Amino acid sequence: MTALLDLSDVTAGYGAVQALFGVTLALREGEVLALMGRNGMGKTTTVRVIMRMLPLTGGTLFFDGRDIARLSSYRAAQAGLGLVPEGRRCFAPLTVAENLSVAARPGDWTLPRVLELFPRLGERMGQAARTLSGGEQQMLAIGRALLTNPRLLILDEATEGLAPVVRAEIWTAIRALKGQGVSILVIDKSLKELGSVADRAVILERGQAVWQGPMSELGEDVVNRHLGV
Ligand code: ATP
Repeated sequence: MTALLDLSDVTAGYGAVQALFGVTLALREGEVLALMGRNGMGKTTTVRVIMRMLPLTGGTLFFDGRDIARLSSYRAAQAGLGLVPEGRRCFAPLTVAENLSVAARPGDWTLPRVLELFPRLGERMGQAARTLSGGEQQMLAIGRALLTNPRLLILDEATEGLAPVVRAEIWTAIRALKGQGVSILVIDKSLKELGSVADRAVILERGQAVWQGPMSELGEDVVNRHLGV
């Protein structure tokens, strides 16, 4: 079966600083893949490459069978890549309703469906995004990405900096999305929560995928070796 997302031997960096040293990973349609690794190991850089925000210096990048290595980030979004970036990045002065409508594209994900997933957004439609709590801003960022009707949703640290109860709400939503068949690439620090939602995991270390396999096979030894502090 061809993968929805397929990276092979991808290298990339920031000027003279190389960050990825040959990343190979694949995500199948309908799958939730956890992209793991300690701080600075290349997770966000991998996401930037996938989203075409950073050029590849080597390797190949395919999405839905199509070579997207040279697409602009705008075209990558059009091709069906939906990112919820680290730090959320809502349009602060715009209202919730405006934030949601700017990105919307026709498809299965409609405003009512997003408000069903996050009823709290429905109560805040006229409020400026900057007046929302961190958790609500995160819901808005996810809702906005869903309204682009992506084929793949990428969540980069979606629960970072949130209170435990709010984190739990976000995880509930992520599990609901999985239940609805959404393909997801997820980066997060909580091994426990990732274990409850991810089908497979890829672990990055110094810009290379050093382990990948079913989440159920991610043993304590691997965790200690590659993810322990
Ligand atoms: P974190 O969990 O801390 O976000 P990460 O796994 O996402 O870590 P990256 O942000 O991808 O890691 O960083 C990978 C490497 O690239 C690190 O060595 C980092 O210092 C470097 N790096 C990241 N962003 C930049 C940048 N804008 N300019 C220069 N180097 C960068």
